[in-house]
Amino acid sequence: MQKNVLLIKYGEIFIRGKNKPKFYRKLADTILNRLGPNYIVIREQSRFVVEPVGDGGTGFGAALDRLKNTPGITSVCPAIKTDDLSIENLRGLALSHMVENYPAATFKVEARRSDKKYPMDSMQIAADVGGYIFNSGNDFSVDVIKPDIVLRIELRSCAYIYSKEIKGISGLPVGSSGKATLLLSGGIDSPVAGYLISKRGVSLEAVYFHSPPYTSLNSIIKVKDLCEKLSVYTGEIKLNVINFTEVMLYIKNNAPEDKMTIFLKRSMLKAAGALAEKNGSEALVVGDSVAQVASQTLKAIAVIDQAVVMPVLRPLCAFNKDDIINIAKEIGTFEISIRPFNDCCTVFVPKFPDTKPEPLAIQKINEGLNGLSLLIEKAIEAPEAYAFKF
Ligand code: ATP
Ligand code: MG
Repeated sequence: MQKNVLLIKYGEIFIRGKNKPKFYRKLADTILNRLGPNYIVIREQSRFVVEPVGDGGTGFGAALDRLKNTPGITSVCPAIKTDDLSIENLRGLALSHMVENYPAATFKVEARRSDKKYPMDSMQIAADVGGYIFNSGNDFSVDVIKPDIVLRIELRSCAYIYSKEIKGISGLPVGSSGKATLLLSGGIDSPVAGYLISKRGVSLEAVYFHSPPYTSLNSIIKVKDLCEKLSVYTGEIKLNVINFTEVMLYIKNNAPEDKMTIFLKRSMLKAAGALAEKNGSEALVVGDSVAQVASQTLKAIAVIDQAVVMPVLRPLCAFNKDDIINIAKEIGTFEISIRPFNDCCTVFVPKFPDTKPEPLAIQKINEGLNGLSLLIEKAIEAPEAYAFKF
């Protein structure tokens, strides 16, 4: 009996010491969750095997895409699984795998057996099957130094034959490192920040501050589309849209112009922090990169972060814009982010922003902005909520 299966390899879980079982469970649950009820997940030494329920075994296309984009998975190998370990069966399966997948190629066979009682050792298996393929009358020639194809045969309690290893995005399974609230603007940076932090095993809830009529409905559509794209990697993600117009206008009318953005950012963090406490987050995530704009200088970051107790993670703090754009293109958020709709920060940009705000001065101005807290509280009372699931 043979089946088409997927071998799922993972990397960083290996270094998790006594916590390993928790990570394995999380990854297995994530895989099942992403694939739905037509598959089962079996844990073997140092990997998972995904099998279709019943005798099926084709139709891995969508499953493959989902798994290669799942944090925690380093690679996915489509393989043939057989419980007939006889060398005759292995030869036949290996040859049909080559013929079905490659019209012509240079190749080598690599074999591994964990069952040391098997009558042939790894070298003998590789040489035998390699010779069989070479002599089959097809256009396959052996190259042990730089082959086009490495055909792998692994003997455990059953045998696996495969030749493709599709790279995953690695990292840790989402949810294994807790939860954070992502401040998601329509820009290029924050979706990338969310993607990177979710690869560290953090599950996300997103918040977008909307300021009608200064920002249009199109910017909500944009942020929703970004969430949908992010969910390919993060799994389920909830988006909260918060109307921030009154907060913004209050700041515009009451704070010194050169410090408007600082107070806007502080207010966003405060609002997101309150939301985060309610939804069980342990941190906030923003798309800042040091010195990219006036509100992202070290001095500005210092006074902005003073608005909240919760840690504010900045996964992009040391990234250059080029590098951020490259990741945004890779993960498919770039095309959405460059749609030309304003976010609220581009509407209220001071001409000469203060890049070196002093904590004492900020504190003093903050004391004068005594209507702000109430407006923030009001804004987060009833966010519009949307859920996305890949
Ligand atoms: P981005 O490309 O992510 O918008 P940016 O370089 O344009 O970043 P800012 O507009 O200063 O920089 O925003 C810095 C960070 O603040 C964003 O990455 C995001 O995390 C958060 N942020 C800004 N505006 C909003 C908003 N309207 N809603 C939610 N978060 C926001
Ligand atoms: Mg922005």
